[in-house]
Amino acid sequence: MVKADIGKILEIDLENDSHTVNKYGRENIEKFLGGPGYAINYLLDEKTYNHDPLDKRNVLALMTGLLTGTAYPCSGFYSVSARSPQTEIYGEGLSGGFFAAELRKIFNGIVFKNKSDSPKYLLIEEEHFELKDASNLWGLTTDKTIKELNSKHGKDYKIACIGPSGEKQVPLACIMNDHHRAVGRTGMGAIMGSKNLKAIAVKSSKKKIEYHDEDNFHKISQLLFKSFQKSPMAEILRTYGTNNITYFERLYDVPHKNWTLHKWREVPKISGEVVFEKYHIRNKPCYLCPFMCGREIEIKEGPYKIENAAGAEYETTAAFGAMCLISDVEAIAYLNDLCNIMGVDTISTGCTISFALDCYEHGILTEEDIGFPLEWGDAEAIVKLARLICEREGIGKTLSLGSRKASEIIGKGSEQFLTDVKGLEAPMHDPRGIFPLGLQYATSNRGACHGRGYANDQYSGFTGFNDSLKITKEKPMRERTIDDPKFAKDIALTQNLAEVVNALGICKQTMTSGSQIVDGLLEKLLDVLYYLTGIKFTLKSLMQIGERIFNLKRLYNTKCGITRKDDVLPPRLKLPLEKGLTKNKVVTIDLMLEEYYKFRGWDDNGIPTSKKLTELGINHF
Ligand code: SF4
Repeated sequence: MVKADIGKILEIDLENDSHTVNKYGRENIEKFLGGPGYAINYLLDEKTYNHDPLDKRNVLALMTGLLTGTAYPCSGFYSVSARSPQTEIYGEGLSGGFFAAELRKIFNGIVFKNKSDSPKYLLIEEEHFELKDASNLWGLTTDKTIKELNSKHGKDYKIACIGPSGEKQVPLACIMNDHHRAVGRTGMGAIMGSKNLKAIAVKSSKKKIEYHDEDNFHKISQLLFKSFQKSPMAEILRTYGTNNITYFERLYDVPHKNWTLHKWREVPKISGEVVFEKYHIRNKPCYLCPFMCGREIEIKEGPYKIENAAGAEYETTAAFGAMCLISDVEAIAYLNDLCNIMGVDTISTGCTISFALDCYEHGILTEEDIGFPLEWGDAEAIVKLARLICEREGIGKTLSLGSRKASEIIGKGSEQFLTDVKGLEAPMHDPRGIFPLGLQYATSNRGACHGRGYANDQYSGFTGFNDSLKITKEKPMRERTIDDPKFAKDIALTQNLAEVVNALGICKQTMTSGSQIVDGLLEKLLDVLYYLTGIKFTLKSLMQIGERIFNLKRLYNTKCGITRKDDVLPPRLKLPLEKGLTKNKVVTIDLMLEEYYKFRGWDDNGIPTSKKLTELGINHF
């Protein structure tokens, strides 16, 4: 018997305001852990792949992880999954903060079905929950929505909500929680908007999570917390956040000017060091976090004046800075804040604008199309364009669909400037220096993603789990071999590991920076899970859960039409650079992909075989 109160899922039908509470028992915990592991089951059960993503029959599954809200460090994460309006395949975003830790004391997750006929928010206090009228919140930015709900119900409520972009069903829309944290990527905010759901507010003052062995759970969690605090990356993250763009630049990891330049001399102007010296107010860590990468900043005057704003992360800094050539760090901070309060994903917005800049430079989009001149690095014009995307107005209507769909509308050869895989713009790490990352991007279930695998970390020396997983040791950059099939296994294994981390509801930093300092972190995690649940997982069984979740997502995608033809890199990521250490490196993945399919037990077309699905116990879908 599982001691901890785990697996309680609230299912709400927004159309008729009815609900059920389901309980996932030990068997499901052993098979899926939690988080996206539960969510993908709902999406497959409901056959949401048969429906338009913005149709009311799409299901929004918000799930905490198995460790969320416990005493384990960085365990404040949750996931939101649905068929994506941006990519039209499996969509998923993750976020930290405090919202999920609060929710986890009451429910493991909430599944929203159908659509309310008027704007609503869900209020949860202990075991009581109620859909409430949100007409006075409709139209408010995310910061104002949270402020309003906190002043109405009390500061103890933790809130996740959408902004005006989610309400307008912008396919790039995200969900924001705790002011500064985003469920970015793949448009989960648009799904909330399509269901007329503005916010979820939750408070639990009494209940705490039950443990199988609370003393030992706390003991090991405290030890890990202290060790993580001492990791080499922790001090950097505490001081500069994730914006280590100057360091990544030295690794040839940063894409510039829509992936066409190897270096950019303005990078030091937009670094975390500059932000820390001039604008830093305080650290804003998530629940129980020793790394503290989150921060609050302020710009006191000028056109980009902002207050109580989140410091831009590395991805955002690169997407608006390096990709659009904005060297004004205040403009980047402002764009980050604009995206957060309107509720859109910063990576996809920055990269879609970079795509538009490329189109403009090559005469494919004109001043007449856009409404104003659009030059690389013109911060004022780029802010204007970002607003149009958030508001879904003018050219923003087309660009708010994301670069892939925008290119289909714009035509005229604009597809040569694309940077997406399966409709999701690649994040800010360059596979032309870390070749196996190309395979990770091409096969990632939600489209190009650096967060559903660890290639950029593991081959840059930022992980300590390589021995436990028997990962290949990478050579120095100049000696690396492109398309080496030996990396296929590593990519598949670390994708499986990422599924485990996300299903546990813990921050990726624990597995990168944390595993650098704690020997045998993965093995220690097995003890942690035993002290929580009483279930004795092994490294093999844990990794098989990751494999199971990954395969379920792939299965979902194949039902959306995904096959080998989609496991490819986009034109801009394959463009050979003219200078630098990565000069003339064209990333090909054909040999790796062949080996990857074999290792995964998929057929030549990238479809999981029934033998593999039977082996994983998921052949019923
Ligand atoms: S490292 Fe950053 S994102 Fe991760 S839990 Fe800590 S503050 Fe949150």
